[in-house]
Parts: sequence; structure tokens; C-alpha cells
Amino acid sequence: MHRQRCTRIIATLGPSSSDVETIKKLSDAGADVFRLNMSHGDHSSIGQIHSAIREVENMTGRAIGILADLQGPKLRIGVFDGDKVELVQGQEFTLDMEDKPGNKDRVRLPHPEIYEAVEKGTDLLLDDGKIRLEIKKVEKNKIITEVSVGGVISNRKGVNVPSAILPMAALTVKDKKDLDFVLDLGVDWVALSFVQRAEDVQEARDIIGDQAKVLAKLEKPAALYALDEIIALADAVMVARGDMGVELPMEEVPAKQKKIIRHARRAGKPVVVATQMLESMITSPVPTRAEVSDVANAVFDGTDAIMLSAETAAGQYPVEAVGYMDRIAIKVEKEPSYRKAQNKEETQLEPTSADALSAAAKQVASTLEAAVIVTYTTSGSTAIRAARERPKTPLLVLTPNLNTARRLALVWGLNCVHTQDATNFQDMIDKACQICVKYNFADKNDRIVITAGMPFGSPGKTNVLRIARIQSYHKE
Ligand code: PGA
Ligand code: MN
Repeated sequence: MHRQRCTRIIATLGPSSSDVETIKKLSDAGADVFRLNMSHGDHSSIGQIHSAIREVENMTGRAIGILADLQGPKLRIGVFDGDKVELVQGQEFTLDMEDKPGNKDRVRLPHPEIYEAVEKGTDLLLDDGKIRLEIKKVEKNKIITEVSVGGVISNRKGVNVPSAILPMAALTVKDKKDLDFVLDLGVDWVALSFVQRAEDVQEARDIIGDQAKVLAKLEKPAALYALDEIIALADAVMVARGDMGVELPMEEVPAKQKKIIRHARRAGKPVVVATQMLESMITSPVPTRAEVSDVANAVFDGTDAIMLSAETAAGQYPVEAVGYMDRIAIKVEKEPSYRKAQNKEETQLEPTSADALSAAAKQVASTLEAAVIVTYTTSGSTAIRAARERPKTPLLVLTPNLNTARRLALVWGLNCVHTQDATNFQDMIDKACQICVKYNFADKNDRIVITAGMPFGSPGKTNVLRIARIQSYHKE
């Protein structure tokens, strides 16, 4: 039931992994959260995957998080006569709004916002940055460029405009339809792609309300300028290295990863590191040494979760990929230098009872060498503050709210059990002790540290810290 590691694993589902049997194997191998990528697949197949995940959740008895990732304002060119052309360095190439197939001189770019936002000298990147165009002249609905890096370009390839803040809404028409659909299905997290400003997060949150938690994907340079504002408004963030590595020189991405993790942790917001973590495993049963190092380093950086994309969605070895992540994280977390790195990061306590009691619980548990810290929570916010302290003592979260348990599946170190709230003080102790024994967090005579909010049965502030010892009758 409980994982041997604190770092969480997110696996994207797709054609390689959409049936109950494979999802069960991924869950057993270590996947804590599953991602539904709304850029691929229609609503009926997404709905089927969703119910397959819930079926697996029933089988395992462990709350599973579901993250629906909206496509966002991803820009694309139109199609070509003959499906592709070759662009040669130094040639002129035009982008326009005309609705007809392109050729070696021009192609359609059906996003009016771009024409407003760019100017002479701006770079346009095509196909994940493989092709680079420098803008020479902007006319009404027409951009004339010179090819600075050429290559073959085919239908509907992506376009990135790193240096401009595009006046585009964070949620496209497709996103809004997808959002309605996934909120009806019941997902735990919604990820927003290409967030540029804090307002983008707010706009989504206004629609989502408390139906799901909101994760902002950081992949645009503009988002990095507004990093702390975005972190403050989002419930979690993602280091989305795929598009970030197109929008920024790739060599800047590792330092951004460390910075984002630091800032997110300081704010007590979960953070996910994503993309190409075990990329070679799409076609190979073993990763490269460099990939293993990359996963290990993200864990050392203190990320809450590491994510697999095509490796599990479309690769040949989805279960093996999760297995590697699981083993790498377990190994790294056992290193003394991992603990040191987690403690070195200063987290300033805020004047709230949740922070005061989380810090106290960590201290008390360490002094007494307690087996586990048990946190009763309804909304999950106290548990997230406890995780921010990165205690070396395992964390067990007891919640009467199944949605809370599912949402917390993404957060560092939180092992959640869905159970009824305590009815009185003695029940609070007995229930905690019994569940600790049942799930092997503690054994007879072990001490445990409990935090809870009184009065019981109503959501409210955490205001109790109790030390307890497991008695023989807790094992019955
Ligand atoms: P994507 O986002 O996989 O939806 O593009 C992640 C990334 O860009 O890294
Ligand atoms: Mn992306």
C-alpha cells in the first residue's frame, strides 16, 4: 500500500496503456497519478481511460490522482500541397491567413493574434524549433521572413514565438469544451498549457472553482518572468521542459528547473518535472545513463513528482519505464546527501497553526524517533504544509474526503488513507494507531505523532498535536 519513496510518479496514458490490465500494471509498478493528454484522443476514448483508472483504483484500494492536461493555445501552420516542402537557409518565406495549401514560398498561419504581436527581428520557430525564421517585414495578415535555419517542414507543424507575449486567451474554444467534459467526468487536477501570465491561471480557476486543483505548466519565457505570481495563484506547477526547450535556449532549462523547484517549494506548492525523462525507453527496454542521471537529479532537486509522457502513452515499454523511475527515486532518497539537500532549502514558516504544528510534528517525530506522523485533514491543506517541511519521518494522511486523497497523490511523501473522521479524542488516537498498524507504518510499542483539528467532524484549523504509542489492542 505505501510507497518506498516520497517522490511521486505521473504516467501519461495513451494507445500503449489505455486498458485496465496495463493501467493496473503501471499502478503496481509505481505510478501514483495518471495524465490524460487532451491534445490526443476524442472524448469517448478519454472517458473510457478515465473509468479504467477508477476501476484500477477500486482494485488496489489506493487513491489514484487523475490529471487532465489541456492543449492550450498551441500554434500551428496549415497544410502544404504535397504535404511537405524543404526550406533553404537564406530564402524568403511568407506566412499569411489565406486558406489554401502552402508551397515553398508561403504557408497559412491561422492565428490573427500573432500578426499583431510580432515585429521585424522577431524569431519564429517551426517544428519544435528545428526550423528558424527571422521576421523581415510585417504587413496586415502577412509576415515575410528569411529562413535562418532550414529543413523539411510538413503539414500542421507547431509554431513557437518565444520573445512575444501573445494576446491570446489561456483557454481556447477546444480547451473550454474539453474542460467541461473532464470536470463532468471528475478529474482531480487540470493542467493549463502555455500559461503566460497569472491572469491565465485565474481565468481557468474562475471556471473550475473547487471541482479540481489547477496546475500551471511553465513552458513560456513570459511565465518565468511572472513565476512567483503564477505559483501563488496555481495549486501546483510543472517544469514543462519540452516546449520550454524550444522557447528558450536548451542550455537554460536545467537552471530554470532548479529555480522553479526552489520557488515552488518555498511557496508550498507541489512541482512536477516533465518531458523526455526516459525518452529512449519509447523503443528500448533500458534507459540511457544520461536519462537515469536526469531522473535522479530531478529527485535530488526536491521535486514532488516526475512525469512520463510518450514513454508510457505510446512507447513499447510503459511498465518498465515506471519501474525504472520507481527504482531510481528509491535509491536517491536513501542517500544521506538527498536528506541534506532537502533540509538545506530554507522554508520560512508562516504564522498559521498548520505551519506551526507541521514544523513541531517534524521536530517531535525526529527527537522521539517516531515511526510516522499522522495528519487528519479534510481539505488537504495541512498535509501539503507538512510535506513542504520534507520530514524524514513518513507521513500518513487520514481524510474523510476521497477527492482530497486523490488530489494529494501528486504531493511529495503523502500516503493517504480515506477514512471517517475521528469522533472524539480517544477515537482520534485509536483510529490513527490502528491504520498505522494495518498499513505497516508502525508496530507495537512504536511511537507516532498525530496532528488534527478539534472539534472533530467539521473542517477547520489543525490545533492538536498528540504523541501516542501503539498498544497491543491496536493490532486486533
Ligand atoms: P506537453 O507539455 O507534453 O503537453 O507539450 C509538456 C512539455 O512541454 O514539456
Ligand atoms: Mn508543452
